[in-house]
Amino acid sequence: MLDSIRVRLTLWYTLVLALVLIALTGVTYFMYRRNVAERTDSALTELADAFATTFRAELGEGHGVDAAKAAAREAMLEHRFRDTFFALLDSDRTLLLTSLDLGVGTTEHAYPDVFRSSSFRDFLQSAASNPEVLGRVHGGRGSFRSISRTVAAPGGSYVLIVLQSLHPQQELLESIRQTFYWAIPAALLLAGIGGYFLARKSLAPVTAMALQARHMGAASLHNRLAVANERDELGQLALSFNQLLERIEASFEQQRRFVADASHELRTPVAILRGETEVTLSRTDRSTEEYRQTLAILRDESQRLAHIIEDLFTLTRADAGQYPLTLRANYLDELAGEALVRARSLALAKNVTLTSSIESDLPIQADEALLGRMLLNLLDNAIKYSPPGSKVELSCRRDGENYVVSVSDHGPGIPPELQARIFERFFRADKARSRADGDAAGAGLGLAIALWIAEVHHGRLELTRSDPSGSVFSVILPASTNP
Ligand code: ADP
Repeated sequence: MLDSIRVRLTLWYTLVLALVLIALTGVTYFMYRRNVAERTDSALTELADAFATTFRAELGEGHGVDAAKAAAREAMLEHRFRDTFFALLDSDRTLLLTSLDLGVGTTEHAYPDVFRSSSFRDFLQSAASNPEVLGRVHGGRGSFRSISRTVAAPGGSYVLIVLQSLHPQQELLESIRQTFYWAIPAALLLAGIGGYFLARKSLAPVTAMALQARHMGAASLHNRLAVANERDELGQLALSFNQLLERIEASFEQQRRFVADASHELRTPVAILRGETEVTLSRTDRSTEEYRQTLAILRDESQRLAHIIEDLFTLTRADAGQYPLTLRANYLDELAGEALVRARSLALAKNVTLTSSIESDLPIQADEALLGRMLLNLLDNAIKYSPPGSKVELSCRRDGENYVVSVSDHGPGIPPELQARIFERFFRADKARSRADGDAAGAGLGLAIALWIAEVHHGRLELTRSDPSGSVFSVILPASTNP
């Protein structure tokens, strides 16, 4: 149960609330109690003052115990209050008169013998040496706040005692305590239930997300989580989750298209291989020349197959970030020269003239094989799409912080509406012509690979110009390549 965030949240919330409520009610209760006690004391002092004044006035110049008792009687009658009791004692602390004798201020809380209780005697004892003392006296059924005051009169000095029953206050404080005893647990229970439902409601989107994510598979990647409020934290989580799904779906789609295109590209040479072999084997009386022709076709097609498989392998490893790059200090001018030599036979076969203008001393940190492959792909395309008798030029120069390698031809160019797509995998501007080129026909992967190679060297590959008079492809590589 404690594994549930809802329950843990609720428990924490209730615990913190309990601590706050207990601290708050405790402080309020004690402040209130102190305040009540202070008010009682000041009321008691005022009453004692008033009583003493009346007593003195009534006594006047009177002497003797009887005169004192009579004056005290008048004062007690004048100042009688419910729950308030008076006593007059002579200077020897002998009780002369109490309000209980007069039946004044009596309530059910008054303890009839309070003035004879041991607690009262103790109070008298402690008050003996002081003209005014505040204290507490306990009777059988309650406690009293008490004040003793020495009153000097012409006939001698007397001690006045006023007792105020604390019963009403204690009753009030008790009822406050009782209220707290049930109100705090009730408030906590309510807050706990409310908190639990709040936590459940707030976390409901998480539960829904988990459930949806659990049922999500490759076939349902297009599903998205519902976003209740995209500004709150859970909405943000759902949004991020949806964006992640979008990326996964896009990458799935890319992979699916890649596999479909790849199978499609592989199907054609395989079909040719099978068709050629079946036709040749359908008759037994073939001449050696016919067999040679078939074998030549088989060789070309298997070469094409090998080429496509090699390109596919390169791209899948590139996508997975697993292509082993071997970066070494090289010279771009040397790599360009080597690519020219390798392209020479292709140019010869197509009767295309290869020219070059290569600046010397262009040091570069590069993967020799990959950079060579990129240059050969560009030269191969330029030759492939050039009319016989035309010229293809490779130029290599430094341009500030970069090297610019350009391959230009006088081929038919790429239609403007297709130019943006030529770096896509398996894209061919003119499929019919590509196929008609026989063994030279590519699968539309050459530029995609060249682009990846440029990027992996922190450079870029772009089609600088392409119109019916020819095309120029340029590779821009940072001179201080430090991949
Ligand atoms: P392919 O193997 O078909 O040549 P690429 O990826 O190298 O594949 O090129 C993609 C497409 O771009 C080609 O099919 C072709 O239509 C077009 N293309 C590339 N280079 C040239 C060029 N020099 N002149 C004309 N078209 C080109």
